[in-house]
This record gives sequence, C-alpha cells and structure tokens, in this order.
Amino acid sequence: MKIIGVLGGMSWESTVVYYERMNRAVRERLGGAHSAEILLYSVDFGRIEALQHAGEWEALTEEMITGARRLMLGGAAFLVIATNTMHKMAEAVQAVTGLEVLHIADATAAAVRAAGARRVGLLGTRFTMEEPFLREKLAGWGLDVLVPDAEGRELVHRIIYEELVQGVVRDESRQRYREVMARLVERGAEGIVLGCTEIGLLVGADDASMPVFDTTRIHAEAAVERALAG
Ligand code: GLU
Repeated sequence: MKIIGVLGGMSWESTVVYYERMNRAVRERLGGAHSAEILLYSVDFGRIEALQHAGEWEALTEEMITGARRLMLGGAAFLVIATNTMHKMAEAVQAVTGLEVLHIADATAAAVRAAGARRVGLLGTRFTMEEPFLREKLAGWGLDVLVPDAEGRELVHRIIYEELVQGVVRDESRQRYREVMARLVERGAEGIVLGCTEIGLLVGADDASMPVFDTTRIHAEAAVERALAG
C-alpha cells in the first residue's frame, strides 16, 4: 500500500471525514484490521483563511508547496489536497515539487460521469464557484457546470466560512442550501457537486431531488484506489 500524503486542516472539520473515509475504504477493500497508511500535514486554517480573503494567492501557493515538501520528505507517494478551494494552486504544487497531486475535480468528474449525469450544479466557496480552476477541470470531462446566482453564491460562501469550518451546523442553513440546490435542479442540473469539503457535514442525498456528489468522500475513496493500485 502506498503512503497517502494529505494536506489538510482546511478545515480540520472535513479532514476528519477524509481520515475516517480513507480508513473505512481500506477496511472495505482489505478487511480485518487493515487501515490506510497516511501522512497528514494539518495547517492553522485561521491563517490560511485570512490570506484567501486578502487575495494573497502567491503566499498561499508557497504555503501549499511547503506543506507538500514536508509530506514528500516523510515518504508520501502522492498528494491529496483536502479542500476544493486550494486546488487553485494544484498545478503549481505538482510542478514545483514533482509530487503527483490526485486532483479532486478529476475524481469527482469521473464519479459524475459514471452516474450518467452531464449537467451539474456546483456549490463551493466563492473562489471555487466563480473562478475557472475547478469549473474548467470539470468541463474538461464534458460536464456542463451551473453555479447559483450571485445571492446564492454569497449565501453558500458565507455559511462555509462563518459556520461549517467552525464546526457549526444549523438547520436553518441546511434549509437555505436545500433551496439553492432546488433552484439549480430547476435550471436543469442532473446532480449537485458538493464542491467544498465541509458541505457534506450540512447536506446529503436526502436534501436534493437529484444525486449529490460529495467531493470529500469521492476524493478520499479515489486516494485509497490509488494507494492500493499496483
Ligand atoms: N474546505 C473548503 C473547500 O473545499 C473550503 C475551505 C478552504 O478554503 O480551503 O473548498
């Protein structure tokens, strides 16, 4: 089994889910007492989040490269960046360090295609919904990507940073997310990509009339596939 390098803590609320899902997936595959071989570097998200909102993406790229190098030194065979937003610098991290990045959008798009959906609604941070880095990657798989309107994007973004990354899960926010997802379905979405690793803490399959694709779970399972592949 290869060692999975996880660049996490963004936020740790979702890294916990990655950790559990990867270990469960190894148990499902190998049985018995087997578990995943993981190296985790977990950042202080308060610092990261402040840099994101200040638009300091070069400094953030350096942070991710430093984290990836730490994991490489420990023997990670490949890298899982355990957040959608920080895939903004996935190519740079891979190019500079030479460590393979298992891209969250590739794993997710493969799952969406396997389920037979073409047009998907994308929820995530403002960066993920409005910038091209994730959307274009999904589009490269032949997916048609819809995002909420400006008001919906603001709501989805605010709830991620003011609630979910801080471990706050509110029924009222779940209801708001249901409404945003319902509007995406009305516009033709055949599935909803939970394109932020904390969203699965708030909503799931029962909250939308179309299939939901949880990037956390999909990415964690893809990492295990990769770790166990010959
Ligand atoms: N975990 C979130 C994501 O998947 C947001 C936190 C971050 O900005 O990294 O995008």
